[in-house]
Amino acid sequence: MLHTPAYAAKTAKASLEPYEINRREPGAHDVLIDILYCGICHSDIHQARDEWGGSTFPMVPGHEIVGTVVKAGGHVTKWKPGDTVGVGCFIDSCRECEACLDGEEQFCEEGMSATYNSFERDGKTPTYGGYSTRITVHEDYVLRIPSGMELARVAPLLCAGITTYSPLKRFGVKPGHEVAILGLGGLGHMGVKIAKAMGATVTVLSHSPGKRDDAIALGADDFVDTSDKQSFKTNAKRFDFILDTVSAMHDYNSYLGLLKRDSSMVLVGIPDPVPLSASSLVMQRRHLSGSLIGGIRETQEMLDFCAEHGVVSDVEVIPIQKVNEAYERVLNSDVRYRFVIDIASLREKL
Ligand code: NAP
Ligand code: ZN
Ligand code: ZN
Repeated sequence: MLHTPAYAAKTAKASLEPYEINRREPGAHDVLIDILYCGICHSDIHQARDEWGGSTFPMVPGHEIVGTVVKAGGHVTKWKPGDTVGVGCFIDSCRECEACLDGEEQFCEEGMSATYNSFERDGKTPTYGGYSTRITVHEDYVLRIPSGMELARVAPLLCAGITTYSPLKRFGVKPGHEVAILGLGGLGHMGVKIAKAMGATVTVLSHSPGKRDDAIALGADDFVDTSDKQSFKTNAKRFDFILDTVSAMHDYNSYLGLLKRDSSMVLVGIPDPVPLSASSLVMQRRHLSGSLIGGIRETQEMLDFCAEHGVVSDVEVIPIQKVNEAYERVLNSDVRYRFVIDIASLREKL
């Protein structure tokens, strides 16, 4: 067993605090990764505070992991010590069901092994995430980080990047499309960059008017302040596609009204349930859909796409000791635009 410093929430009501976990020595098909950076996703907060129910504690969150392979098991063929790699939202799956065979492991019929707040395939060994100095992962669930990318700025691609890339691609976003990104946070700002790289005309829909200049600087063509209720009238039936990244309760019906006939809104944000009026969909034959991260193959495709288009996250790098403060700022929509933990700050405590 490898004693590993980490930060954990001991209960849903507790702040995160220093904690020690054990990582396994790499088996024949595993790699041991020294973690360099880990992004803070809003899902970390939802789960650490048990907002989705069923959380298990102590919890070491973190699923936007970038690091270096330091040890590879005897049968590992894909990686060698020194490789720069990533780990995203899951670290294993059954590998045999239709979803896994399709490369959509996130929908594994037996349930994926999420990177934290979950269990290994044995169903009993808890998984711990990237707010820790190292992680042992099966080689098939590791991603290649293209060379030349700034590593702290790459970490958020492992969740925020793939979660926005996957639906933008699946719904065929392309030049000429009027795309709206709803919510300018970690996911939203990646959505802006990726939709622009796909050639779309991009508008940010935000309830924070102070983010207007940032939205344009990130590459958006337009900004709509949704705290001004008039904006729902002036932008009615404007968009070909809306990607909804909002983490808190909001009225889907009013945003559906911004879609053109036959167009789609995809939810990636996971707030509490909100009432949906059938007429929001029926009247203009609109579609409402959802999307969950992406499989390993598509995550690699996204990383390569981002490298090719020079897309990385805008980050505020923090030491782990500031993680609780960062959570509060995320909850106040005060993140520009992803917090990333420099894991060196956890090693210094050794
Ligand atoms: P985030 O950085 O906190 O961004 C969320 C944004 O939502 C905020 O910046 C804010 O943007 C907007 N917002 C917050 N409260 C709002 C309110 N009351 N009304 C309207 N807008 C509000 O969070 P994130 O990390 O991007 O994650 C967003 C959501 O996606 C979370 O629910 C997370 O769990 C979920 N998620 C889903 C997947 C998936 O696979 N589906 C993957 C990762 C995360 P403005 O200030 O611009 O309005
Ligand atoms: Zn996430
Ligand atoms: Zn499966």
